[in-house]
Amino acid sequence: MHKPRTSLQTHDVTNQPRPPGDLDLLSDPALFDPLMASFARRDAGSRDTQTAGQHIPHLTAFAKQVGARETRELGRQADENPPRLKAFNAQGERIDEVEFHPAYHALMKIGLEAGVSSRAWSHPGGGQIAHAALLYMMSWADSGVTCPMSMTYAAQPVLRQSDWASVWAEKARTPAYDPKAIPLAQKSAATIGMAMTEKQGGSDLRTNTTRASALSPQEVELTGHKWFCSAPMCDAFLTLAYEDQGLSCFLAPRWHPDGSRNQIEIQRLKDKMGDRSNASSEIEYRGAYARRIGAPGRGIATIIQMAHHTRYDCMIGSASGMRQAVCRAAFHVSQRTAFQKTLIDHPLMRAVIADLALESEAAIALTMRVGAGFDLSSENEREAALSRALTPLAKFWICKHQPAVVSEALECFGGIGFVEETGMARLFRTSPLNAIWEGSGNIMALDLQRALSDKTVRAVFNEDLTRIAAEIPETATLVEGLRSERPENLRLFAQQAALVFSADALAGSALRDMYVQTRILNPTPIWGAFAGRVDLTPAIARTTNWMMG
Ligand SMILES: Cc1cc2nc3c(=O)[nH]c(=O)nc-3n(C[C@H](O)[C@H](O)[C@H](O)COP(=O)(O)OP(=O)(O)OC[C@H]3O[C@@H](n4cnc5c(N)ncnc54)[C@H](O)[C@@H]3O)c2cc1C
Repeated sequence: MHKPRTSLQTHDVTNQPRPPGDLDLLSDPALFDPLMASFARRDAGSRDTQTAGQHIPHLTAFAKQVGARETRELGRQADENPPRLKAFNAQGERIDEVEFHPAYHALMKIGLEAGVSSRAWSHPGGGQIAHAALLYMMSWADSGVTCPMSMTYAAQPVLRQSDWASVWAEKARTPAYDPKAIPLAQKSAATIGMAMTEKQGGSDLRTNTTRASALSPQEVELTGHKWFCSAPMCDAFLTLAYEDQGLSCFLAPRWHPDGSRNQIEIQRLKDKMGDRSNASSEIEYRGAYARRIGAPGRGIATIIQMAHHTRYDCMIGSASGMRQAVCRAAFHVSQRTAFQKTLIDHPLMRAVIADLALESEAAIALTMRVGAGFDLSSENEREAALSRALTPLAKFWICKHQPAVVSEALECFGGIGFVEETGMARLFRTSPLNAIWEGSGNIMALDLQRALSDKTVRAVFNEDLTRIAAEIPETATLVEGLRSERPENLRLFAQQAALVFSADALAGSALRDMYVQTRILNPTPIWGAFAGRVDLTPAIARTTNWMMG
């Protein structure tokens, strides 16, 4: 691009920071360090001889590809050109298709070919952790496209529950993007969506009214609606519906086995505040063909495996959204001056950037800790039990922090942060999403207690608390309170547990002392309002050194 004119007739344009250029996302220590720690934890806890290091060359290449300015520009274009519903063709016949901007397709291709949805399953040794790194980095380009990628990833444990669905499982874990609206047999790869939420209730799925009428012992016709069905161009949707035995889980393909379009009608696309590149729709099943997955009447138990994995993805997405906002803010204030000083050299700004940087690093560290549990769960009962508790806990905490972190980072830009062109507004509009989707905060706090009502889960949770209190004595008071099996306020319980496990996840990090001092010993509700002397340099340097190259 030719250099813009800075010398204008009425004034010279000065003191306007440049946007970041190409970024090598894996060279950010906030990602690299916890990723390596998580790989090491997985290798130490696994009997598998395949080490997690197998993923590093792949992640290194993807970090450069997706961090490139050109790829991030695709994200801007996809966000500014939202999808459009094509319910009918020119002849008035129903097609129920959604038209996306070419940038959306380009990003889907980049992410799916790199294995954002598939690598966790195709390369098991550390694959779940590698998935976290891939999804985290993909979100730097655009978080909207990560929605279908995430659902396709998370559908695997459900699709594996019925033999007949293996063809779907196989195509959903093929590292390719095939956007054509055609039957599965003709496709090289597939994406999977989920349809659970109805108008009368999303948290309480027992209120679903969609009915399934039997066509055969396994096959049904669905009648009813779904109020939120994201990425409606997916090839099939995991769906909850009632049959005589209770609420069951079904897979509703977009194409009927007879080769015709299935009776799934898209009513409209939601006018959403964020994640605009991705379509979220309202749909109706009008006698739509579907096939049961799992046991009849066990729909929630069947689909919960998907929710467990999408909750993992929610925390990954939020950790990424926070880190992007903080890095952008640090980059901006390292270039802009006010009152004869670069903004980052003003003590109050230093405190804010350091505090936000710390929060983003803690979120990534906790996410990667959870990721190691996902990898080890299949061979280690202790890790599986701990993962059951840490997943709702980390989702509650990390997703809830995203809007606050992004908002403060946006404020660091001053007025231009409020302007769409900087990309900060886009990060802000998207920031509340992960806290709502797949179980809002209260539901996560309740789910944590449900998890802890299991004796095995409670025992390993308590064991870890004891270990952490011994390693970080400043957590001892919080840990004592967390032993209570009947906490008065479940949100407070979740908050305190998250603080303890976040401090633990920062083991080996230069930032752990700062975390303990500012979150556990002297917490204050405002960013950068530290009580007492705090060494801000490591948190700032880790961020600015990377961003400023
Ligand atoms: C962008 C976007 C995309 C989505 N995509 C999909 C999709 O593809 N498929 C799909 O099925 N759904 C999807 N959803 C729906 C989402 O999962 C639900 O919105 C969510 O589960 C909450 O359900 P609800 O909206 O009915 O809220 P409600 O269930 O009415 O909850 C409202 C509030 O009440 C709280 N609450 C509920 N029960 C309790 C309780 N017992 N105690 C205390 N508080 C409680 C909740 O935490 C929440 O804050 C999407 C949502 C969004 C925003």
